[in-house]
Amino acid sequence: MLHRRRFLQLGSLGLGAFSFAGFKAAGPTRKPIVISTWDTGIAANAAAWEVLRNGGRALDAVEKGVMVTESSLNCCVGLGANPDRDGYVTLDSCIMDEHANCGSVAFLERIKHPVSVARRVMEKTPHVMLVGSGAQQFAVAEGFPLESPALSPDAQKAYQQWLQKSEYKPVINIENSKNQTAFAPARLDNGDWNHDTIGMVAMDANGNLSGSCTTSGMGFKMRGRLGDSPIIGAGLFVDNEIGAATATGQGEDVIRICGSHLVVELMRQGLSPENACKKAVERIIKIKGSQKAKEIQVGFIAINKKGEYGGFCIQKGFSFAVCYADNKNFMVNGKYIL
Ligand code: ASP
Repeated sequence: MLHRRRFLQLGSLGLGAFSFAGFKAAGPTRKPIVISTWDTGIAANAAAWEVLRNGGRALDAVEKGVMVTESSLNCCVGLGANPDRDGYVTLDSCIMDEHANCGSVAFLERIKHPVSVARRVMEKTPHVMLVGSGAQQFAVAEGFPLESPALSPDAQKAYQQWLQKSEYKPVINIENSKNQTAFAPARLDNGDWNHDTIGMVAMDANGNLSGSCTTSGMGFKMRGRLGDSPIIGAGLFVDNEIGAATATGQGEDVIRICGSHLVVELMRQGLSPENACKKAVERIIKIKGSQKAKEIQVGFIAINKKGEYGGFCIQKGFSFAVCYADNKNFMVNGKYIL
């Protein structure tokens, strides 16, 4: 059970309202707009919004936005997060722009901003993905400082606790499953993370789309394990003609259906962002069967070219942050199936 150590300071940020899970623009296109996964999305959206409100590019917005989450030591994403089962924090991230340019890094250690390294991969190499020591070598050559390998105090504590049983069992990603009007902290009472990722998609004032996704992956994962987050088409996909989508939750199940790509393709067929996310979630449930699907969480969020947004998840407890005006940065409860 989650201990509500803090409410995200929605009040102090002037952000309070919850909304419904999908939005259909009645009139002209709503832009700019940015949405991102989980409660950490509020602060990330605020940073992205600064870029968007000043006429900046969606690509810059989605990088700046998730960098906020990567920087936070007391968060599920970035170097403060839980390590793998051998005690190392390994980070995965990707980014994609309106021209289908994309970059990705995975199994990256000791670098604070994997999303920015992913962007450099996209802009400075002929490749899409760099992994492990090669990704780190590239990052250092690009001037990214090599940070200390030491775990954050909270992560150290959580790891010591985990080592007592060393049980290899993924935690269901759920935020505040009992009371959807408040937000649970990213870290649970037992020191574990509730979720480990932020995915963000945005449309700028010019109507161009971009997205980013960044994660420490599943806490106490097998060394070398990658989830969906750094994989273009799984954790993130952008098609500037149609829309953009990103995923969070049990990465293996997102990969199996090429989740974010599927959501965008469903929007291409005319589905709203919310219905496209719902269909993708249904596909996971169909493949796994309801019983097994109940043991996991997956959430998708998406926007389309009209500035409509939506999200859907397997089970109660997924939320996402939506921002489209100076005073409109709010949490939305993802609708769920099981
Ligand atoms: N999707 C991430 C992974 O599987 C985890 C998360 O979203 O919390 O690595």
